[in-house]
Amino acid sequence: MSETSPKLRAELEGIPTYKPGKPAASDGPAAYKLSSNENPYPPLPGVLERVTAAAASFNRYPDMACAALTEELAERFGVPASHVATGTGSVGVAQQLIQATSGPGDEVIYAWRSFEAYPIITQINGARSVQVPLTPGDVHDLDAMAEAITDRTRLIFVCNPNNPTGTVVRRAELERFLDRVPKDVLVVLDEAYREFIRDPEVPDGVELYRERPNVCVLRTFSKAYGLAGLRVGFAIAHEPVAAALRKTAVPFGVSQLAQEAAIASLRAEDELLGRVGSLVCERTRVVDALRAQGWTVPETQANFVWMRLGERTTAFAQACEEHGVVVRPFAGEGVRVTIGEAEANDIFLKVSEAFH
Ligand code: PMP
Repeated sequence: MSETSPKLRAELEGIPTYKPGKPAASDGPAAYKLSSNENPYPPLPGVLERVTAAAASFNRYPDMACAALTEELAERFGVPASHVATGTGSVGVAQQLIQATSGPGDEVIYAWRSFEAYPIITQINGARSVQVPLTPGDVHDLDAMAEAITDRTRLIFVCNPNNPTGTVVRRAELERFLDRVPKDVLVVLDEAYREFIRDPEVPDGVELYRERPNVCVLRTFSKAYGLAGLRVGFAIAHEPVAAALRKTAVPFGVSQLAQEAAIASLRAEDELLGRVGSLVCERTRVVDALRAQGWTVPETQANFVWMRLGERTTAFAQACEEHGVVVRPFAGEGVRVTIGEAEANDIFLKVSEAFH
C-alpha cells in the first residue's frame, strides 16, 4: 500500500482538535456527566413529538434556509429575519464568523482561559489568536483586550458568562469597551449561557447589537433549551454579517429534526425557562455549599462552577469519577463542574467536602 506523503501527513496532523468531554460510564452504579454543561432534563414530550414526526421524512434534505425557525427567532427577538443566521450549533456559527472575517495574518482576540473552541477555530482558518489573560479574579480584562487591538484585528470574542469560569462582564464596562473598538472590528458576544444569568447588571447582547452595527450575538439551543444533541445555534447580527454567515454555512447543516425541535422549544419557552430557574436554585445551593466547605469559587452566572485547583486538578477529577460523577478537568488549572440533577450535585458535594 502506498504511503501518504510525510509533508501532507505533517500538515494534516498539525490541525488542532477538540477534546470531547468524557462520557459518564454507563455501567457505573450511578454515573452522572457533569463535564459538558448540558441540560440534565430529558426532552419535553411536546418537543419529542415534533421531532419524531419530522423523523418520518429524513430521506429528504432539510430546509436549507431554516426559514420557519428564522422567522420564529426574528419575532422572538424583535429583529428583521435578515438579521438572524442559524448554524450547526453556536460553535458552527462561531467558526463561520472567523471564516467570513479572518484569514492568514489576521488576529482574533479573546480572553484566556475561555471557551476552548476559540483557539481551534481561529487556527483552522489560518488566523492568529491573541489571548488576553483573565484578571486574577477570573474575569475578562476588557482594558487589556482593548489595548490588544491592532490594525490586524478582525474579530473579538467576549464570552459572557465566560466558559469555564462562569464570570460575567457588566453593562458599564462592556459599553466602555465597545466604545474603544474600531467600527471595522466585529465583536462577538458569545451568550451560550444567557438564560442562566440573574445579575441585572449584565446587559442583554441583543440590546447592544441594536445600537452597534459591529456587535453580533451568538446564542444556542444546546444549554437552557436542552437540545445539545441536535446541534442548532444562531447569531443575531446586522445585515452584512448575517448575510456572510448564510454564505459560509455548511449547506443543509441544521437537520429538519433540529429545526423542528428548536421551533417547538421556543413555543415551550415558559416551561423550559422554569427548568432553568430550578437549575439556578441548584447553582446557588452548590456554590453556597462549596464556600461553606472552605472553597474559593468565583461568582458564576452560568450552569457550571469553576474551582481553581492547580496541581490537584487531576486528582480531584479522579476522586469525582470514583464516586460516579464525571467533571471537566483543565490540567494544572482547575475543574469545571456542570450543575446537574440534585442527586448528582449531592455526590459532587460529598467528594468536594472530603477532598481537602
Ligand atoms: N459558546 C460557549 C461559551 C460554549 O460553552 C459552548 C458549548 N460548550 C458553545 C458556544 C457551543 O455550543 P453549541 O455548539 O452546542 O451551540
